[in-house]
Amino acid sequence: MVIISRRLEGLPPYPFAEIDRRVEELKGQGVEIVDFGIGDPDLPTPPHIVEELREQAGRPENHRYPSYQGSRRFREAVATWFRSRFGVELDPDREVLALIGSKEGIAHLPLAFLDPGEVALVPDPGYPVYRTAVILSGGRPVDLPLKVEDGFLPDLDAVEREVWEKARVLFINYPNNPTSAVADLSFFEKAVFYARRYRVVLAHDNAYSEITYDGYRAPSLLEVPGAREVGLEFHSLSKTYNMTGWRLGFAVGGAEIVAALGKVKTNVDSGVFNAIQLAGVAALEGPQDCVEHNRAVYRRRRDELVSALRSLGWEVTPPRATLYVWMRVPEGHTSGSFTRELLDRAGVVVVPGAAYGTRGEGFVRFSLTLPDEELKKGVHRLREAFS
Ligand SMILES: *Cc1c(COP(=O)(O)O)cnc(C)c1O
Repeated sequence: MVIISRRLEGLPPYPFAEIDRRVEELKGQGVEIVDFGIGDPDLPTPPHIVEELREQAGRPENHRYPSYQGSRRFREAVATWFRSRFGVELDPDREVLALIGSKEGIAHLPLAFLDPGEVALVPDPGYPVYRTAVILSGGRPVDLPLKVEDGFLPDLDAVEREVWEKARVLFINYPNNPTSAVADLSFFEKAVFYARRYRVVLAHDNAYSEITYDGYRAPSLLEVPGAREVGLEFHSLSKTYNMTGWRLGFAVGGAEIVAALGKVKTNVDSGVFNAIQLAGVAALEGPQDCVEHNRAVYRRRRDELVSALRSLGWEVTPPRATLYVWMRVPEGHTSGSFTRELLDRAGVVVVPGAAYGTRGEGFVRFSLTLPDEELKKGVHRLREAFS
């Protein structure tokens, strides 16, 4: 008999368990499933990035332990990309940290800034890692509701003073998963204002900064003056360059904050394989038409899906960013019952909004990361089943 830690026991149950079971059951009956569930780019990593890995993997000097904070070469490439993309100067030695995917950095952040029982504010609905990482660190997550009437931005003015005073970390994420909402600089300014006032570490997850449409450009938190004194920002090569399997991301921000996260990491992992970092350099410094191509593909899929959903009488706003269409479920449904209905009547898998937190109830998330033919098949099935 094994005794599991209270921390682990305290994690919310795996939210997709029931849907997964039903999907397996239907597959067993020979039903072909169209999966709008997972957010994992179906397009391959651009060839020039793969080629760089192939070459660098063959070099013995890349086979040894990498630098904990990331190679100087990778950190410089990040700083250069950041300057050209956001107009923000970074010190590659003190303000940039390589990550084994941004999830890794997000998951380790609470260990650097939360003592047992201390509070982190987490968006609800939100990427589940913020909450679970806080719980695993022994901290206490407090929900920041994201409401449709506020454009899915948390109302920071409404957070009570006592909550601010207890808070040590605030997680935000725009462009947002799962709601696909975007934020402008004035929202980040407000977040920085509160973070400075209450000495809260402001952690911005910018994993979707490059997945934007219709001329929208996502800002960086670090464009706000003074942001780096209280904040850091997580970036990922996963979605931008179709590199989810490679595990490469980075954190940028104030030197003290980056150093604290780095200190956790030196005690837990030993950095990113050098060959992968060099492939990341090729991604950041190489031609960016692959990113433009991704955007064009997702935009086309978005338009096709949104027009189909609307033709069925469902209420949906086309997202200006991210890989997701966040849709309110029809009257009389919960997110769970509607997910089940899509599955049973059309063989279509979506994620019930409630999987991302209690405020996700009443919504479902469609992902755009399935091949065009699959998406067409899914759209066709929806029209057949629900027209
Ligand atoms: C996909 C995703 C990430 C993580 O990506 P990595 O592959 O770990 O870099 C981080 N945040 C959000 C909101 C995501 O959707």
